[in-house]
Amino acid sequence: MLVVMQSHATEEQVRAICDRIESLGLRAHPIPGAARTAIGITGNSGAVDVGSLESMPGVVECIPVSKAYKLVSRDVKAESTVVRVPTPSGDVTFGGKAVAIVAGPCAIETREQAFTIAERVRAAGTRLFRGGAYKPRTSPYSFQGLGEEGLKILAEVRDKFGMGVITEAIDNESLDLVEKYADVIQIGARNMQNFSLLKRAGRSRKPVLLKRGMSATLDEFLMAAEYLMSEGNYNVILCERGVRTFSDFTRNTLDLSVIPAVQRRSHLPIVVDPSHGTGRRNKVLPLSRAAVAVGADGILIEVHHDPDRALSDGPQSILPDEFDQLVREVREIAAVLGRTLN
Ligand code: PEP
Ligand code: MN
Repeated sequence: MLVVMQSHATEEQVRAICDRIESLGLRAHPIPGAARTAIGITGNSGAVDVGSLESMPGVVECIPVSKAYKLVSRDVKAESTVVRVPTPSGDVTFGGKAVAIVAGPCAIETREQAFTIAERVRAAGTRLFRGGAYKPRTSPYSFQGLGEEGLKILAEVRDKFGMGVITEAIDNESLDLVEKYADVIQIGARNMQNFSLLKRAGRSRKPVLLKRGMSATLDEFLMAAEYLMSEGNYNVILCERGVRTFSDFTRNTLDLSVIPAVQRRSHLPIVVDPSHGTGRRNKVLPLSRAAVAVGADGILIEVHHDPDRALSDGPQSILPDEFDQLVREVREIAAVLGRTLN
């Protein structure tokens, strides 16, 4: 259910509606828009009795939202959401005019490794650094990440290079720590339907980057985002990172067609990760160009100065020089679309 307020409705009127919704044992989500505020209602198992709500001052109408996802839907908020990530070098935005660039290694391996890569991607203009401290690996014998030590290195990267940091939480325990150190919490593909983790991230004040599960349909992807929003975290960035198909010449099949499909249905920003999406270094540049051309709000790129010796995802990590070229090329493509780089 969605309560649409009049454009001149006062804050007190919005608050009164929220109080009434909460008094019914439901949850109110006021969503300010450019023209008016809408209030999403969650927590109901069946239809909400709107009788009393509709006659309250400031209300235009109550609209039943038939789709399973409500808060992520454009029905609730017509204009695109801009997620703002504060960094020491100013805010990086996702979903506005600028295309955001996130770059860094798959995993934080050592301080020297992280600093070497950070220095190069920062010099290319990047203000958001990625790197896993907790790695969800297919094999239990593969490098699992440095844990909190990795988070501390990320915090040093922030201080030394003036970048915000994005890193993955793999369970509720690591999320407590990631929340403390990171500027954006990443939820990985393998955890897209880890509902307790989604609920926990939904209660965080930090923005969340939610990766699409490798076999998730569009509806499942949006429902996972709905979990985050239903807990009160509206700063959600979606990320397409490739899905499993019969096609085996790449690690995954990058589903770029999901970008306009998400943008039709949802107001949330969506970025593309062509590194995991292809698993092949030589395909990261062309698919980055394509991602920006199709309208992605950002790209997430794995960069390593010595990929042959990387402890994870070396084959898909590009070299810093290749990253420089990538930034130059996607800037030109963004400009054709009237966008800048962020
Ligand atoms: C990653 O970003 O390093 C990662 C593990 O990604 P995904 O969850 O998309 O596999
Ligand atoms: Mn990786």
